[in-house]
Amino acid sequence: MALSSNLGYPRIGSQRQWKKAIEQYWAGKLEEAELHAQLKEIRLSHLRKQQAAGIDLIPVNDFSYYDQVLDTSAMLGIVPPRFSYEGGKVSTKLYYEIARGSNDQPASEMTKWFNTNYHYIVPEFNNITPQLTHNAPLAAYREAKQELGIEGKPVILGLFSFVKLAKGYAKHEQGAWVEKLLPLYYQVLQELQAEGVQWVQFDEPALVTAFSEQDMVQVRRIYEALAEAAPNVKVILQTYFESVERYSELIHLPIAALGLDGVHGWQGNIEQLLAHGVPANKLVAIGLVDGRNIWRAELEESYTKLEQLQKLVTADRLIIQPSCSLLHVPVSVQYEDKLPQVIKDVLAFADEKLTEVVQLTNKLNGQAESWEQAVQAGKQAYAAFNALEQRNYKDKLQQSIDKLLQQGLTRAASFAERYPLQVNKLQLPLLPTTTIGSFPQTKEVRAARSRWRKGEWTSEQYDAFVAEEIDRWIAYQEQLGLDVLVHGEFERTDMVEFFGEKLGGFCFTANGWVQSYGSRCVKPPVIYGDVTYEAPMTVKETVYAQSRTKRPVKGMLTGPITIMNWSFVRQDLSRETIAYQLAFALKQEVEALEKSGISIIQVDEPAVREGLPLKQDEQKPYLDFSIRAFRLTTCGVQNETQIHTHMCYCDFSDMISSIRDMDADVISIETSRSHGELIANFEQQTYDLGIGLGVYDIHSPRVPAVAEMESLIERALRVLEPGLFWINPDCGLKTRQEPETLAALKNMIEATAAVRQKL
Ligand code: GLN
Ligand code: ZN
Repeated sequence: MALSSNLGYPRIGSQRQWKKAIEQYWAGKLEEAELHAQLKEIRLSHLRKQQAAGIDLIPVNDFSYYDQVLDTSAMLGIVPPRFSYEGGKVSTKLYYEIARGSNDQPASEMTKWFNTNYHYIVPEFNNITPQLTHNAPLAAYREAKQELGIEGKPVILGLFSFVKLAKGYAKHEQGAWVEKLLPLYYQVLQELQAEGVQWVQFDEPALVTAFSEQDMVQVRRIYEALAEAAPNVKVILQTYFESVERYSELIHLPIAALGLDGVHGWQGNIEQLLAHGVPANKLVAIGLVDGRNIWRAELEESYTKLEQLQKLVTADRLIIQPSCSLLHVPVSVQYEDKLPQVIKDVLAFADEKLTEVVQLTNKLNGQAESWEQAVQAGKQAYAAFNALEQRNYKDKLQQSIDKLLQQGLTRAASFAERYPLQVNKLQLPLLPTTTIGSFPQTKEVRAARSRWRKGEWTSEQYDAFVAEEIDRWIAYQEQLGLDVLVHGEFERTDMVEFFGEKLGGFCFTANGWVQSYGSRCVKPPVIYGDVTYEAPMTVKETVYAQSRTKRPVKGMLTGPITIMNWSFVRQDLSRETIAYQLAFALKQEVEALEKSGISIIQVDEPAVREGLPLKQDEQKPYLDFSIRAFRLTTCGVQNETQIHTHMCYCDFSDMISSIRDMDADVISIETSRSHGELIANFEQQTYDLGIGLGVYDIHSPRVPAVAEMESLIERALRVLEPGLFWINPDCGLKTRQEPETLAALKNMIEATAAVRQKL
């Protein structure tokens, strides 16, 4: 009999109880004992749900108080020495200090988990001597067994991936770190065996990214040692997010099962399976239900994959599961009471996905009573959904898009010709100063929006409030002496949601939250249909702001790739096609702004980098279509209209030539977090378009001194042409308070003036 399994369940709770409890604890409103009690209740309720759904292998130790990578570090005693720690089990207080910083010590770095929008806490190895502080998987296993009689499957972040994700060691020390940590993993697994644990899942997502021969030696070393530690435990070596590299070697490791992504890496995985087969003593755990998206599975289609697999392995050697942990999808469609039924019917969040896993498993096991009904219900749901008018504009849109693509997506004049025209028209000084778009979203701004949303305020009242904020900030910017002004984005909650609400083809869930980092959850918009431009989205506020000043006001849009990467997208069209649809709609907004007299338009693309595919051969095609989407949005403007873009959140060092190809007149990049490195990159590659490297970090309330910014500007000017250099903060200022914002901008202007004098 095939088994059904799950790789991990969302920890946030159906109503984000998890987040609320943790934040109350941080605020000092919940005692630690109470926090433990509440989180335990949440954890057990998730186990009960999975049991009720009929999952055979229920994951334990997938739950976390913050992040599973941090949990692994804490279990192994890897605590950065700047925190006071004397060994032993990491206390709750210390655990959160590592994640969020203490009064006097900065938090550990946080970064994206592979190609997802989940962020993990980066382990810092340095000179630490690791030690096993407590056997967390064992504790989780015991709890499930004692409380609910569940024979859980402990989930453990695999040693190879853990080391790969960590920092604080040189590349040549990787093998030494594997050796240092191996005895601890050995002990964990031995203790699990002694307890009678049957299955253990080692997550090794690093095995889908390219890894070397030397890496493979380490992987082999790890899994051979672990097999020796616990010969009776059935180890599942679990990969996800893409097809696995070196299948032919991994399948021969002394493991019980290899876990493969049957959605995102299906093609690559099935080719390797067919080419190399499956040894008779091995199981394949196949992820057939998409753990990265919210759409209902088309069961027959998934089942054809099982039929292909059955040519290689008998059903009793198959484990059916989601493609990855369900951490990346919301909890349950059940709470969506505002969506049209026809959309709700094609959605599947974590709970619904578990049902799909069980349906596929039952069918494979010949228990097909409810199969036919489920298949038919799915087909009907998709038929009704596909008939929606909003899903049937694609051909017409594509004709317009193709025409533009064929025209070559180039501006009328080259940068060298058009930039002087812009500078002249806009009367820009050397080293023009500007900001990234948003100004503080104060309590008052949020309260005003919520009054309007609740109907306590009319649209006129709300608009009048926004206009007053714009007035105030236009005046501030003039007083400060900024050269290019912005309206401040007071009308926007979020840079993607704002546009999604105004474009056709989007819908919004009521409760579709997913964890982004720590207690922070996001509710991505859903692109369910063809993206259509309905009416101007930003013209009113921008034109109003421009009417209040003689200096140029920059219009602000979110770019196509960022909107796409921060949404759940339909799966019947390629991401490239969706990006072009978004670009085509945004192009119309760019042109509406231009027609209304706006001469600078910024199209923000902070999320380009994070959508970069994990497989190297897919990266260039992705970057190419991202560039095309940006150019499609912006290339139709007059020579005198200046196009800006903005990027942040990551390391752009390997993307400079792609950024150049976007052909934006000016780009502003977040720089302060890795200032030296980014500038060094510009030493090696020339950048000959307008550019502003952020001169101060906006993530902290600290007001940087004039001299500090002056030296950053001078440093940048050693590698960048002064005639092309702009001065701006790192990113938008919406999370800051007013006084610190004004003080920091004042210093930025002073620093600029000082540098201009010396030029
Ligand atoms: N224009 C946006 C702002 O200023 C950009 C935000 C971002 O880059 N994440 O808030
Ligand atoms: Zn930014």
